[in-house]
Amino acid sequence: MKNFLRNLKLTWKYTKTQRIKILSFLILNIITIIIGIILPILSANQIIQLTNNSLEQLVYITLVVFGIEVLRNIVDYIARMFMQIIYRETFKEIQIDLGREILKIENKCLDENSSGVFIQRLTSDVGSVAEIFNVLNNHVTRIITNIGILIAIFLINKFALIFIIIMLLLVFLLEKRRLQLYDINDKSVRNKNESAVGFISELIRGARDIKMLNAEKSCINELKNRITDVNEEKYNFLKIDKKWQFFRGMTIDVFDTGIVFLLIYLILNQNLEVAMALVIYNYMGKVIHIVDYLGSLAEHIEDFNNSCERVFNIINEEEFSKEIFGKKHLEKVNGNFEFKDVSFAYKEDEIVLKDLSFKVNAKETVAFVGKTGSGKSTIFNLLCKMYDIKDGKITIDGVDIKELDKDSIRGNITIISQSPYIFNLSIRDNLKLVKQDLTENEMIDACKLACIHDFILTLKDGYDTIVGEGGISLSGGQRQRLAIARAFVQKTEIILLDEATSALDNETQNNIKKAIENLQDKYTILIIAHRLSTIINSDRILYLNDGKIEAEGTHKELLKNCKAYKTLYESEDIKIEN
Ligand code: ADP
Repeated sequence: MKNFLRNLKLTWKYTKTQRIKILSFLILNIITIIIGIILPILSANQIIQLTNNSLEQLVYITLVVFGIEVLRNIVDYIARMFMQIIYRETFKEIQIDLGREILKIENKCLDENSSGVFIQRLTSDVGSVAEIFNVLNNHVTRIITNIGILIAIFLINKFALIFIIIMLLLVFLLEKRRLQLYDINDKSVRNKNESAVGFISELIRGARDIKMLNAEKSCINELKNRITDVNEEKYNFLKIDKKWQFFRGMTIDVFDTGIVFLLIYLILNQNLEVAMALVIYNYMGKVIHIVDYLGSLAEHIEDFNNSCERVFNIINEEEFSKEIFGKKHLEKVNGNFEFKDVSFAYKEDEIVLKDLSFKVNAKETVAFVGKTGSGKSTIFNLLCKMYDIKDGKITIDGVDIKELDKDSIRGNITIISQSPYIFNLSIRDNLKLVKQDLTENEMIDACKLACIHDFILTLKDGYDTIVGEGGISLSGGQRQRLAIARAFVQKTEIILLDEATSALDNETQNNIKKAIENLQDKYTILIIAHRLSTIINSDRILYLNDGKIEAEGTHKELLKNCKAYKTLYESEDIKIEN
């Protein structure tokens, strides 16, 4: 109950814009509840008038009952409309906040969890949370209405009421036990479900690769295993649920027979009229639902609490750590930065960078070369504070990045990667993502510089062409050029190119190289390049081996002083000649 109140309070915060509607809704509900209590009492009165042969009174009460029923339907209709709006708006507010908070989660946590964890929470869990007001409304209204029926039974015969209350208590205890088991099983069903949804999302994202690999069979087998796991968990759940429902049904049947005996006994002892006995019997059928409503309310509350735990654990940082930034703000950086004795590991004990130190001056162009896995991309990740370092210090313009706010770091660095993510939006909107007030001229200039303008003009809808999820309708090279255009739009002081031109043909690569060379001396540029030919004009080249800088200098200096670099360069020449 304590959890429920805490969760309700947390959910309540998301109804800020809906408070007037909630108030109106509550007033309408109070009217419904009052009607719910009055109606059974009036109906009992109807029967009393009928058995007393007071026809005039009966007609009068019948008309009143009819009027009240009409009023109830109208009030109910308006209340439902309000409820739908309150539900939708609360859902939206929580979902947006959760989406925002998911984007704040540390990359380390994102790497460790499947997307299913977040998809489930963003969709079905948010639904269960936002639904709580509707659930409370429906159940509380019905429960109170049933209390009205109990009052009506009390007015007719106290013994019958005591009998019915004993039955309700017993059924309630059975229901309580069922709910305890429900809670335990519900949690494990959700965990299994997360794993299945995670795999389904990978299956869809990786569909093209699965086809190319001809791996449909094994992927479907994996899917089958995960869904079977979920189903088995659900069947166990159902078995327990049905067993307890059976006990409950049997108990009700016993009491059903019991009440018939009690009513006959009361009639024979002239304590009850036959008509009243029929009313009580009829009410008993209705009032048993009070246990259903209580049970279902408890079930929904359990569901709500579990979903709240999963949603608010993300929002309130109880399960996944969030990125931490400092408070210092640099509007525009010059572009100097330094790594001082930086050590870093993605996973404990798997050191990727060891006591790495180097300095890059503003407007310098520095290239990183070395074997795959030597830690080049990791340097870029750390500079953007995508991961936190273990030891050492990284500074931008002399300020430790731990002290800087998010905008000072990521707003001043653009990273163009080997496989940039392009969104399923138009080309224009993809570019606008990084600059909302992008003008037509700025957009065209950036695309011309990135050698993609002419290609865009050949598309039917030009800049308004939608490019598909991940930019699937574009070739690898076109995606890279669009990402480069996006970086030209961003125009940050520091530009990181991580194999950014690897998918381009030689001619386009030369064009891009010229565009990048135009940027040289104006921006701080770091380049990781597969082909050394693209970086030989850099001011400096750092040769990285196993997380350490092995040599440093210009292309010519390295050819002279670094054997590994020379070998790498020569092997490339051979490749080019071939
Ligand atoms: P490079 O860019 O030089 O090819 P990386 O910096 O990408 O090398 O990778 C360095 C090492 O870190 C590799 O051994 C790689 O397996 C590991 N690594 C890279 N990214 C991650 C990650 N997100 N989680 C765990 N290990 C990673």
